[in-house]
Amino acid sequence: MKLLDGKIASHAALIAIAKAAEDIKIERGYAPHLAVIMIGSDGASETYVANKIKTCAKIGFESSLIRFDNLVTNEVLLSKIEQINSQNSIDGLIVQSPIPKHIKFSEVTEKISPAKDVDGFHPVNTGKMVQNISSFVAATPKGILMLIDHYNVPTEGKRCVIIGRSNIVGMPMSILLARNANPGNCTVTICHSKTQDIESITKDADIIITALGRPGFLTEDMVKKNATIIDVGITRVSDKSKKSGYRLAGDVDFENVASKCSFITPVPGGVGPMTIAGLLSNTISAAKKEYYPN
Ligand code: NAP
Repeated sequence: MKLLDGKIASHAALIAIAKAAEDIKIERGYAPHLAVIMIGSDGASETYVANKIKTCAKIGFESSLIRFDNLVTNEVLLSKIEQINSQNSIDGLIVQSPIPKHIKFSEVTEKISPAKDVDGFHPVNTGKMVQNISSFVAATPKGILMLIDHYNVPTEGKRCVIIGRSNIVGMPMSILLARNANPGNCTVTICHSKTQDIESITKDADIIITALGRPGFLTEDMVKKNATIIDVGITRVSDKSKKSGYRLAGDVDFENVASKCSFITPVPGGVGPMTIAGLLSNTISAAKKEYYPN
């Protein structure tokens, strides 16, 4: 069994991203700049956003954190997005999930300029991804592709099962791995909460990607020998032995599944660090105007 270590792979990616940031700064006089809008103070989001901002500083990016409280109106939020869209010094903009229920996620994603959409959620970028046209790809699936690439995990001709069909993880992941590309060329099956007898499907899979947010869901009996397992799930589970009172748990019963696999990601330290690398790699593409030259 080989561990797909997101800390090692993201470290390698961030060295290359930092070099690209330096080159951009020399060429145009200012560093790549990521803006993050955060609404409310969800505990997990605070951690994710702090990591993004900290990593930006570490690799020579500028960053801005714009905070709103939970009562922010649609109008105020959308007008802030519009303002950032027109700010030339900002290359990429993300709105950290979750957002309050009174704000429509689709309105937010559609308001962000596709050229600054480094989370890859705008329908224009999603559409391009489906048609295999270069575009911003959602940070978590992009990070997973980077991880697969770093460890040379074979994908061509493999049967891949993805559990979860969200717009930010499962669905884009399924499209990316089915594309005629490397990594890619998998035969992909998507499972979700209405799928019957998931076990019969996962048992046939060469690659399983779990993105459902149910701790320990994927057990040993659901996995065939030598499969590759990529665990996206991160759930805070109460743990009195920890100072924080919780620990992070993945969707895979790692302890019992690991010995059966050829490759497996840990949680934490697997997909999480790769998501940040994916996001910052997208921000470099935005700064270089790779997908939207004008
Ligand atoms: P989400 O929007 O809640 O979607 C969950 C998906 O899982 C849905 O498609 C749902 O099916 C499916 N599902 C739920 N229970 C199921 C079950 N018992 N059997 C089969 N499918 C089931 O979640 P998400 O945003 O994609 O996130 C998924 C997990 O990944 C969460 O733990 C999240 O914290 C984590 N995450 C981690 C990272 C990272 O950087 N590591 C990034 C993003 C998300 P239906 O569509 O039928 O409801």
